[in-house]
Amino acid sequence: RRPGMPLLWFDGELTAADTPHAPLTTHAMHYGTGVFEGIRSYATRDGAAVFRLPEHLERMRKGADLLGIDFDVDAAFEATLQTLRANGHRDAYVRPLTWLGNGADGVTVGLDVPGLSQHFMVMTLPTVVHLNGKRSRLTVSPWKRNPESSLPPLKLCGAYINSILAKRESRLRGFDEALFVDEDGYVVECTGANVFMVRGGEVTAVSHRDALPGITRDSVIALSGAQSRAVTHHELLDADEVFVCGTAAEIAPISALDRREFGDNPITRELQALYGRVVRGEESSYTHWLTAV
Ligand code: PMP
Repeated sequence: RRPGMPLLWFDGELTAADTPHAPLTTHAMHYGTGVFEGIRSYATRDGAAVFRLPEHLERMRKGADLLGIDFDVDAAFEATLQTLRANGHRDAYVRPLTWLGNGADGVTVGLDVPGLSQHFMVMTLPTVVHLNGKRSRLTVSPWKRNPESSLPPLKLCGAYINSILAKRESRLRGFDEALFVDEDGYVVECTGANVFMVRGGEVTAVSHRDALPGITRDSVIALSGAQSRAVTHHELLDADEVFVCGTAAEIAPISALDRREFGDNPITRELQALYGRVVRGEESSYTHWLTAV
């Protein structure tokens, strides 16, 4: 192993990150037939710990089931911890990915195609923590979210083209992030984060069937006692504070939604600080959410 070259987990073993190559016939490259997760580990007083690892892997299993990929949650759990240990990472972003490889030429996968290969990798990247949770400007996406009746809200690789189109358009317009609103004017989510609003001191978690059931969203509901319900675009414009949350985003205050500017976000900042303590194991009531590396 060359000095400085990180390791990744690939099909049952740790290997130098630049060694494994996927052939050009990889099914996932042609059809997006993979499932991934975005997970974080944090430096705590007792060493590195992964935030809500079982919940992330359970969501990944659901996606894998849908594509007929065998997914061993326990093996993925161990692989994640081993990769973090091998790289000596503490504050890290963890990216497990499972995908279909060689052996199918069309859209038929699963039991009908016995020779079809499947793969599993885990990559860990050191995170620069101060760049997350930054105040962001949102614009309503001209692209609608994948409806769950066409693509269930799971972390299926191909589904993320929808996020990529929306994000790209928002950046071209000079905003940080896109907000998906449905045909009836209800807020869905962002390209990689769920949406909350604060009004009259009350915290509301936007719920929508097309939105990914975010693990950060679930954590923030537990921490804030937020009510979860459907919210219209107009209600969001009328809110005192808006924030978005996700594993990578953590809790990001929204400074503008198109031409509507938001002032200070005091409740968001309080929740942000609390979330920061929870993920670092500084809140004893929530240490059960952490898995020691
Ligand atoms: N929505 C989408 C589309 C996402 O990709 C993510 C990031 N996984 C989220 C919401 C937030 O989910 P989580 O809090 O589980 O990271």
